[in-house]
Amino acid sequence: MSLTTSPYILYSDGNGTIFEDTSLYVVGRSGWDAYPIPVEEFIQLPEGGQLYELVGRRGIGIDVQTGEMRLCQKGWAVAAFVPPAHTSFYIAAYETGPDAPTLPLFCYTAVGWHDDKFYVPATRVEQDIRQESAGFDEVLVSQGVEALQKAYPHNRLVKHLAQNCALTYHCPAARNYFIGRWECPIPSSPACNANCIGCISFQPEDESIVSPQDRLLFKPTVEEIVEYTVPHLETAPFPIVSFGQGCEGEPLLMWETLRQSILEIRRHTQKGSININTNGSKPDAVKALCEAGLNSIRVSTNSVRREIYMPYYRPNNYDFNDIIESLKVVNGYGGWTSINYFVFPGMTDSVDEYEALRTVIRDTGLNMIQWRSFNIDPDWYLGKIGVTETGEVMGLKQMMELLKEEFPALRYGYFNPPIERIRGNYDLDFAHQ
Ligand code: SF4
Repeated sequence: MSLTTSPYILYSDGNGTIFEDTSLYVVGRSGWDAYPIPVEEFIQLPEGGQLYELVGRRGIGIDVQTGEMRLCQKGWAVAAFVPPAHTSFYIAAYETGPDAPTLPLFCYTAVGWHDDKFYVPATRVEQDIRQESAGFDEVLVSQGVEALQKAYPHNRLVKHLAQNCALTYHCPAARNYFIGRWECPIPSSPACNANCIGCISFQPEDESIVSPQDRLLFKPTVEEIVEYTVPHLETAPFPIVSFGQGCEGEPLLMWETLRQSILEIRRHTQKGSININTNGSKPDAVKALCEAGLNSIRVSTNSVRREIYMPYYRPNNYDFNDIIESLKVVNGYGGWTSINYFVFPGMTDSVDEYEALRTVIRDTGLNMIQWRSFNIDPDWYLGKIGVTETGEVMGLKQMMELLKEEFPALRYGYFNPPIERIRGNYDLDFAHQ
């Protein structure tokens, strides 16, 4: 049901209790500015969503009586974490106090209250249900962890996926592996050739925030990779095995091991899809993986403008143009190409970014955009990459619609598609998997 009036702003008492302030309507942030949110862009906060109190920050709202924008002085600002498969159109709008701590690596979406419900400006971009919070039965996960560790007692990767990923980080990909379904992770690289400001597996000592995961501490062997992935491809519904996870560095630095693993996997099974999530830094290595049998690639990026990409990724020994080249290479081999697009309202939907993205889609033959809300403190991010002015913006909803009109074959989503979608009916009925 779409709203007819704006929801009210929320605030927290600083002890984790959240209230609505009916004297103020909620607004949204784009770049450095606050804007009224069109009511048709709100959806109810989806299941699995969470609320954050933003210590040291005062929410900005529109006065219900005067229509003026002003601060909510009743408590700290509140933002929402919008669950996977959804993309946020606006960041929470607030004024940051001088002693406010840097926020951890989550996404901070605007959120309001209306008719006893929470509302967020967002849209569902993915019908695949692989990370629905309601879909995880912890008993099944524990049973899988026990059974598969027993089946592969000497496999360091299976032990890492069990003890760290599934049981400590609660990684949905690892938990799906232990339930025997869908996408199975293959972390492989302890090192990286980039230094992303918001890296989720490594944060420098002098940074005030910590990475939500630790990086893998060993280099897996071909045997360790093949041992558990072939049975997964053979038995799981809609099976995918994916190199490149949040608990490692850059998998392309291990390309020789990955190449041998792909060849060995395909010697045992032709089922499913072999995918790599990567920063796309080494097109030559990508070529070698395509020749070995790689089916799809997902290149992560905060922007398709070199001047926005380089200050964020801070690459050691590659350039922005290399990631574009990697997409072209996979397209040339007939593989599926996606970008893992870190969506930041005000940056992603700037006219300059839109024009650059049209060029990238045309030049690379891109198949899919995975619209991922950027998990980062907005002030910290813009400050670190030196952006004081974001330029003209068009609104994320409009940008997504315009691109769809111009590139009708371009797919939107949130997850790497299985081979059944890549080669068959893309609009599979995921509800009955
Ligand atoms: S490419 Fe990935 S692992 Fe490397 S620094 Fe960036 S986020 Fe971290």
